[in-house]
Amino acid sequence: MGALLWLTPARGLLPLVGLIAWAALACSPLPVEPAPTPEPPRPPPLEIYAPAMRPAFADQLLGIKGAPQYEIEVNLDPDQHLITGQQTVWYTNRTGQPLSEIYFRLLPATPAFGRSMSVTRVRVDEREVQPTLEVQGTALRVPWGTPLEPGASAVFQMRFETATTGRLLLFSRFGQTGNLLELPAFYPLLAVYDEMGWHTEVLPEGQIPAETYAEAAFYQVHITAPSTQVVVTTGSCGPPQPQAEGSKWTCVAGLAREFAIFAASTYQGLSTQVEDATLRFFYTNPLHEDDARLMLASAVQALRVFNRLFGEYPWVELDFVDGFVGHLAIEYPGLVQVGLESYQREPSVQERVIAAHEVAHQWWYNLVGNDQLNHPWLDEALATYSEALYVEEVHGAAAAREWVEGWQRQVGASGACVDQPATAFANFEDYVTVVYHKGALFFDEVRRTAGDAAFFAWLRAYIEANRYGIANGEKLLAAAEVVGQGETVRALYDSWIRCPHSLD
Ligand SMILES: [Zn+2]
Repeated sequence: MGALLWLTPARGLLPLVGLIAWAALACSPLPVEPAPTPEPPRPPPLEIYAPAMRPAFADQLLGIKGAPQYEIEVNLDPDQHLITGQQTVWYTNRTGQPLSEIYFRLLPATPAFGRSMSVTRVRVDEREVQPTLEVQGTALRVPWGTPLEPGASAVFQMRFETATTGRLLLFSRFGQTGNLLELPAFYPLLAVYDEMGWHTEVLPEGQIPAETYAEAAFYQVHITAPSTQVVVTTGSCGPPQPQAEGSKWTCVAGLAREFAIFAASTYQGLSTQVEDATLRFFYTNPLHEDDARLMLASAVQALRVFNRLFGEYPWVELDFVDGFVGHLAIEYPGLVQVGLESYQREPSVQERVIAAHEVAHQWWYNLVGNDQLNHPWLDEALATYSEALYVEEVHGAAAAREWVEGWQRQVGASGACVDQPATAFANFEDYVTVVYHKGALFFDEVRRTAGDAAFFAWLRAYIEANRYGIANGEKLLAAAEVVGQGETVRALYDSWIRCPHSLD
């Protein structure tokens, strides 16, 4: 089902408005002054997002200038299978170009999310505008008359509605089964503008999980839902407040790529600490408790390992929820969805490495963003190589070597270049072999060639230069220059990663 758009004003009103204006003119010689446009609302101060950060990292938020700020009010109605909301987005033009339009992605309307979405009452700086839908109803183009100059800001306001009527299936990622709501990117999400222009591409429905490409943004989200629902989100929420109908949660997220909500009346939570960060696991079936405990313990170990190797996780919370993604897991900012089928009564190394892979994505995707559709290897190969780092720390060097040899066996003599868009792969197996495993072998090769000290200095330089920003292959190579490994890394990059069409 495609997206619906209810933007056209009721035509019957126009003659009436004309009649009133005529009547006003007829009764009075004075011209009718147009009503002044109200002042657009001011953005909240950045301090309100500090509760989402570990105290030592709260200052990082205040140093980021011009990141988008979202304020969203959303109502979850599982009985009616309906999500309704409104949002205000404070946007500063950081593209370096004057903009005469901006795009919002309507991800619930994409084939991979499999649902519909409508947007109404779109306003820019308090003036109602007429947006158009593009890309099969999944991209909302918002025009305005005078171009927005670089460094200038605008305030967007809109209402949205989406249905959660479909069942959750493998890779559908968005929807409802029973009382379990899985709602990543449930709101109109700012598209990214980069050297290629606006990114509004949509992956065809199929074997490749849908990926997003988003700027890090600040979020304040007010969620109303039945009091029986346990609500788990990106960022951190205060305790639910009772309302006339249901309860209201107010949540904030420090710079995050997107904001995801998961909710279920059957969620039961486990919680633990790593220094001043809280890790929680929410499972839906009491039979999962033992496995959830083991996976949470793995996540704790992974967070400790990556804190040491990559630099500290800056956010105060990291949640795991179980849901309908088969035997896989999917990363969201501060939130990991673990497929129900990944549970086994006797957890293997493999199962527990899933947790480490997803924890690593908090560095590779959330902290340092990238175009996950056109260059998916950048975060996936790093998250996959991070598995070996986790195995090495927890199970020893021999186990880590076996882990890497597993990728080597799978990749074999594959001559496929790694830096291809997700759409270039015929099926999920090929995608994983090339993007995840061959990509990870590149990092293994660099480490063995450059040595541990230079290798980890390179990764840390890459994070420092691109923290809360958007990286690409060139920026990965630039970080190698910083640590004196430019030539080594570029040579390996050319043979392992570069495709004829990539990186001009
Ligand atoms: Zn991954």
